[in-house]
Amino acid sequence: MDRMKRRVIEVVRNVVNEYASATIPTFDEICSGLGLSVIEDDLPIGTEGMYIEKTIFLNSRIRNEERKRFTQFHEITHYLLEENEDLICELDEYTYGQGDRHHPQIEYLCNIGAAEFLMPSKQFVRLYEQRGFNAQLILFAANYFKSSTIAATIQLAQVAPNKCIAVVCENGLVPNASAPSQASFFTTGNQYHNKSKLHVIYSASSPAASDRWLAKYTVIPDDHIIKQAFRQSKMLEDDSEIPFPGWQEPCTCEALPHKNRVYALFHLSALPDPNQMTFF
Ligand SMILES: [Zn+2]
Repeated sequence: MDRMKRRVIEVVRNVVNEYASATIPTFDEICSGLGLSVIEDDLPIGTEGMYIEKTIFLNSRIRNEERKRFTQFHEITHYLLEENEDLICELDEYTYGQGDRHHPQIEYLCNIGAAEFLMPSKQFVRLYEQRGFNAQLILFAANYFKSSTIAATIQLAQVAPNKCIAVVCENGLVPNASAPSQASFFTTGNQYHNKSKLHVIYSASSPAASDRWLAKYTVIPDDHIIKQAFRQSKMLEDDSEIPFPGWQEPCTCEALPHKNRVYALFHLSALPDPNQMTFF
């Protein structure tokens, strides 16, 4: 999977080089370069965007500009994956040839692609060299790149020097599905719990963390440090555990609340000494 991530990043970089007028592209210039049409429409609740043939559909109900922009580039990455014969063959290995274009592994790669569009990793690494590796860098990078904290969270995981999982949690409605994954969401329809819950909306693992991340819609338990940080509106850091059944690796967690969200980093291994770090 790690090789797939690198391939996706490479494909995104090539598209940016070809069609963008600046380091960080606009959605319109990439769509016109690739010959994609865009339709904003009232999509089912929970579907932020989708891609059919050469048209990208965006849910006109998304009010959050940052989330919308991330979705735009997520959908472009779906297109890029499908257009690339080699990638499609390799992807089938990960999706066991199911042909499921919303398989969690594919969704994950599309998030990696979106983050690379919005926040090129080469530049991100430079920020991290200057400011250290921590959850606050998410807000700083989002502001610096005038872009999304979602992209910053995903890119932070991609450049992490240790074994680490980065997560964006949001307080809101969660689909009433027994298994918290995008795949199950699509098959169970749009049933929602009627109470807001703090839950995972995006998550990514660092290259050293061997591709385990938290499924979308994972609900954060009441006694977890992420929930405490949210309640107290204050950054917390402590020994913790990953809030997913059966995932019992010891870790430390940094939980940074901001508005309706908490940005969290689970460190499954210690960060190297900053004086001895080498960057790539
Ligand atoms: Zn998708």
